[in-house]
Amino acid sequence: MTYKTTIGLEIHVQLKTKSKMFCGCDNNAEGVQPNTLVCPVCLGLPGVLPVANKQAIGWTLKTGLALNSKIAEHSKFDRKHYFYPDLPKGYQISQYDLPFLIGGQVEIEVAGDKKIIELTRIHLEEDAGKLVHAGTDSLVDLNRAGTPLMEIVTEPCIDSPLSAKIFLQELRSIMRYLGVSSADMEKGHLRADANISVSADEKLGVPVEIKNMNSFKMVEKALLYEEKRQREVLDAGDKIAKETRGWDDAKGITYSQRSKEFAQDYRYFPEPDLPPFEPTKMFDLAKLKAEIPELPAEKRKRYQSEMGLSLQDAEVIAIDQEMANYFEKTAEIVSPKLAANWIINELKIDGLVKIKPEDLAELLKLIDSNEISGKIAKDVLPQMLETGKSATDIIAEKGLKQIGSEEEIAKIVDKIISENSEIVSSIKAGKTSAIGFLVGQVMKETKGQANPAMVNKIINEKI
Ligand SMILES: [Zn+2]
Repeated sequence: MTYKTTIGLEIHVQLKTKSKMFCGCDNNAEGVQPNTLVCPVCLGLPGVLPVANKQAIGWTLKTGLALNSKIAEHSKFDRKHYFYPDLPKGYQISQYDLPFLIGGQVEIEVAGDKKIIELTRIHLEEDAGKLVHAGTDSLVDLNRAGTPLMEIVTEPCIDSPLSAKIFLQELRSIMRYLGVSSADMEKGHLRADANISVSADEKLGVPVEIKNMNSFKMVEKALLYEEKRQREVLDAGDKIAKETRGWDDAKGITYSQRSKEFAQDYRYFPEPDLPPFEPTKMFDLAKLKAEIPELPAEKRKRYQSEMGLSLQDAEVIAIDQEMANYFEKTAEIVSPKLAANWIINELKIDGLVKIKPEDLAELLKLIDSNEISGKIAKDVLPQMLETGKSATDIIAEKGLKQIGSEEEIAKIVDKIISENSEIVSSIKAGKTSAIGFLVGQVMKETKGQANPAMVNKIINEKI
């Protein structure tokens, strides 16, 4: 039986605004004592009034503009009621029928194929606190209560676990480019829940919700597991149960958490303490749009069409804003392909921080002009990292310059030929592959300072 997989994602992005969504408390709880960043508003004490964070709304609209969503003319906040110990108010301020943004698209590349992931909506809400389970006790930390969360919902249009992972990575990258979230999945700044269904025909199957995935790898693994599980259930002639399943990373399985026969009744109603919004009037949308930098998808295209990079190299560089900035600066001085190759394969993250783009370019220019070989350059780079000295200084100090003159190389070639007469006769007898051995000997003799192409040429001329 051939099956079709359909995945939809719900992503929560924690915005890195200075203060929380509806009060003035500090929004950065990293490394802070529990329950110290709280006030009557986020503690949910009676009689308090929320005030919406304008920055959080502006950033949500900017995200929508970047993702081609339609900005709502009328929008409002609603109360979503449920009981849980991390939610002291007994309701969460969220958005129900009038979200700030409707629709939208994200373009991704999956194994060389372009795919458009359609968005349903983007809305803004507040986060709940955090429960910490210690032995038989459960402790609550309300530092996170009231943190602004942007919820991005996709259409059920993602066709594979790999596409889901790549989409999430693209989304993380976009959030970082926009500067609205650090979008770190391991730290819970970006959280994803997935709905996955498998069916034998074009109709959607029964969606199963999966929770508790906190890395990109886990998302892919959990969805692959669930895809296989559902196919096996269908193969056995059984029905898929509509339910929520958790991901157990240690065991590598999903497990049933609760059945989802009935939608939970959240008794949504408009938040009476916050006025409705007219986002298109409240914000200068042209100004917000002008603040959006070139995003990874555009960079990928430009790096390939204008700078001659392969799709693979363009992808690796464009996804990381810091690497992309570094690459663009280096490529102003040396060929983009050479720059990309060195940044991806040699420099790595440590190098990005410690070596300036113009200093890397100086090293690469020396390869380009044949003053040093690529092999020598690979030895010089770690010394640049270690000493902070420039490539030119290290090469001068250590006498690493490539032997440029043909005469000098020819002399060494003569020496190697005379020392290896047997090999030379075998080459003359037709075993041309043995030339490589002679080239190697010359390179050894010159400590890698000869240009291999030139050595090859001279040996061929002399034999
Ligand atoms: Zn507060």
